[in-house]
Amino acid sequence: MVESKDVHEIIIIGSGPAGYTAGLYAARAMLEPLMFAGYMSGGQLMLTSDIENFPGYPKGIGGPEMMMELREQAERFGLQVQDKNVESVDLSSRPFAVTVEGDTFYANAVIVCTGAESIWLGAEGEEAQKGRGISTCATCDGAFFREEEVIVIGGGDSAMEEATFLTRFASKVTLIHRRDVFRASQVMYDRAAAHPKIEIKTFREVSRWLSDEKGLSGAVLVDPRDGSEEEIACTGAFIAIGHKPITSFLGGQVQTDDEGYILHSEHTMTNVPGVFAAGDVVDTRYRQAITAAGMGCQAAIDAERWLEAQHD
Ligand code: NAP
Repeated sequence: MVESKDVHEIIIIGSGPAGYTAGLYAARAMLEPLMFAGYMSGGQLMLTSDIENFPGYPKGIGGPEMMMELREQAERFGLQVQDKNVESVDLSSRPFAVTVEGDTFYANAVIVCTGAESIWLGAEGEEAQKGRGISTCATCDGAFFREEEVIVIGGGDSAMEEATFLTRFASKVTLIHRRDVFRASQVMYDRAAAHPKIEIKTFREVSRWLSDEKGLSGAVLVDPRDGSEEEIACTGAFIAIGHKPITSFLGGQVQTDDEGYILHSEHTMTNVPGVFAAGDVVDTRYRQAITAAGMGCQAAIDAERWLEAQHD
């Protein structure tokens, strides 16, 4: 039996815009939320250079700077943050148990905001070159490729953003996409396409990576229409083909779709009453900082109302 003094009203797992906004609202509702922010707190935006589409920042803002400000704002109202990863949860009875580095914490409600992580291509030779030339984060690794030739794989906003960012360092950036239709927004595509350092190659997929004693040296590209092959030389390659939700710590206790995205059953509540989810861990459609923040707000309000109903 868990003593009620040891039970938090709300535990928030994850610390992107969804988590911090949920934390801000829950703290302002006097629910004294506890957040496990993860070892790399702040989520994907910590790896983003400039955010130009979050309303209220007419000149744009750096990703890490925005996350620090969101955290500071939520902490001002009493959000407690621990920069630790949640290992597992037990949602089979209430209070819910959340295990973190061997310690167990209890909560009447849980909000999951763990976001998503980059998908790798899985082409031949990739494992050996991870960190030796192949990366999923231009903001983190771009500066290693000053005056070198790099490639970016993908046709979405991430690929456009990475390619444009890499022009600060690389002598040439080749964007490789498997078809000639782009998911990227027009403004981001146009910016990349117009850049003199960027060449866009469509109908190309990486079939294997090439290397020498120094690390990555190139890639073999295949045309999916006819199987013809060509080689491209590069010392850096940035894979920007999307993300997958971070849900393995839930051990299958919350319903997800086939790709692992958490499903809502009522507003932001999952199939487990008292467990809510917000942000990229749920969102297969919008995946923006502003939509994640909005959903974090919704989850905190839903959790507050649900908790109130339980105490009636
Ligand atoms: P995305 O929009 O899902 O695009 C993924 C791209 O990778 C697609 O072009 C896809 O090709 C390609 N791809 C997927 N699997 C592949 C594979 N195995 N081999 C080769 N190519 C593959 O993902 P994203 O670019 O990461 O964007 C995710 C969300 O974040 C979007 O909603 C986007 O708007 C948002 N975002 C916004 C910003 C911003 O506004 N500043 C920046 C980054 C991301 P197909 O098209 O052929 O499927």
